Amino acid sequence: EANERESMYLVSEFANDYFQKVMFKTDQGQAIGLSYFKERGFTNETIKKFQLGYSPDDWQAFTDEAVKKGYQMEFLEKTGLTIVKDNKTFDRFKGRVMFPIHSMSGRVLGFGGRILTNDKKAAKYLNSPESTIYHKSKVLYGLYHAKQSIAKEDNCFLVEGYTDVIQFHQTGIKNVVASSGTALTPEQIRLINRLTKNITVLFDGDAAGIRASLRGIDLILEQGMNVRVCTFPNGEDPDSFAKQNTYEELNTFLNENAKDFIQFKASILVEEAKNDPIKKAETIRDIVNSISKIPDSIKREVYVQECSRIMDISENVLFSTLAQISKKEH
Ligand code: ATP
Ligand code: MN
Ligand code: MN
Ligand code: MN
Repeated sequence: EANERESMYLVSEFANDYFQKVMFKTDQGQAIGLSYFKERGFTNETIKKFQLGYSPDDWQAFTDEAVKKGYQMEFLEKTGLTIVKDNKTFDRFKGRVMFPIHSMSGRVLGFGGRILTNDKKAAKYLNSPESTIYHKSKVLYGLYHAKQSIAKEDNCFLVEGYTDVIQFHQTGIKNVVASSGTALTPEQIRLINRLTKNITVLFDGDAAGIRASLRGIDLILEQGMNVRVCTFPNGEDPDSFAKQNTYEELNTFLNENAKDFIQFKASILVEEAKNDPIKKAETIRDIVNSISKIPDSIKREVYVQECSRIMDISENVLFSTLAQISKKEH
């Protein structure tokens, strides 16, 4: 219902103002929240642009203030900002730095909140729950701030996290969005596809993450988009790498290291399969499966030629495998 949604937007907007005020105008907010962001290298300008904030280390502070200002418990609960349990209410976000998540038109849909300790038992990021206004599978973090630049540059960088997006902006690269930890969905890709046909996926520098992400990328190929990928030196993610480099250095690094996705996938699979014939056979099916997702037949042909070279296997075999896979799917 339109009224319910509007009330939820208003509550979210209030929370966004509240978390920012707490960070800039209270001693706790400045000493803990603001100094955390400063340590991560974010300037005041960046913090204001992304409307970053801080939730006080208190179970009721936010809810009490919202109720005092006349916001209804129904909508505080529906946005997940307040948790209602056994007739008691609690703030969902407590003692965390806050990242508001905006719609494409700039409305606040929900939040990500990061703990400040390195407590391995607690979830590092806590997010707003799925709600009538916040559908995780249909939102990309940073799209509101990136959309013009994505169209202008005719490319979109895709990263994992909030801080990757923010640090890239501060370094001067604005065409960047994050999937925020969830597996990439077709709806998210469609949002980018309307602005550009070119995606560059930037992986965190851990091998496990790369392996897991390869599958999701087939969804991008399926939408007829051109995919490039780039990895960072060991242990770095886009945030930590951008923090240590100037705009020129970052730009040069990305230009020199971004590789075509199919070529990238073929070469890492070849490397993994090396002297194991059975693994190599699986690998060939895997890469051909990715190629089969590409709608354009000319591109498919070019990739078959490329992979034949990289994997040292005849084009004929690749083409017949491609034909088998296509037959199975239709
Ligand atoms: P930071 O630099 O602050 O440690 P990050 O953005 O590099 O964080 P990653 O561990 O690389 O964090 O995770 C990428 C993204 O995945 C995060 O930005 C966040 O959106 C999401 N994420 C990570 N951990 C969790 C968690 N425990 N629960 C929910 N989402 C998470
Ligand atoms: Mn990661
Ligand atoms: Mn990361
Ligand atoms: Mn990080």
